[in-house]
Amino acid sequence: MTKKQLFAAAAEALKNSYAPYSGYNVGAALLCSDGTVYTGVNVENASFPAGCCAERTAVFSAVADGHRDFTAIAIAAGKGGVAGDSAFPCGICRQVLSEFCDSDFKIYTGKSIDEISEFTLGELLPYSFGSANLR
Ligand SMILES: [Zn+2]
Repeated sequence: MTKKQLFAAAAEALKNSYAPYSGYNVGAALLCSDGTVYTGVNVENASFPAGCCAERTAVFSAVADGHRDFTAIAIAAGKGGVAGDSAFPCGICRQVLSEFCDSDFKIYTGKSIDEISEFTLGELLPYSFGSANLR
């Protein structure tokens, strides 16, 4: 699975985003080490804190299905149901990703399939708090 393919899956998922309040649609595609892809979308709620980001819905779906070993995530975002903005995972999503992913986990974001930037979780969440702190 190339980063373009993963981004395309995120952009396709974005169409199912539920964002009636912000109008900002996000799709995420999470690649498992076995090649399985889970998608997620942002799901807003009239009680704003009850909503959830696309990245976390993808992670939670994968975990619910028995997957915990991930290699990359692609994020497609934009207004009006169309990808066009380079969106980064919010702080909460970075923390959730760090529960399951190493610092070399790849994060792809971009305005289009031809304009994808690549980062690692270690770059976006350095000096993170994790399970090692609780041992
Ligand atoms: Zn988030």
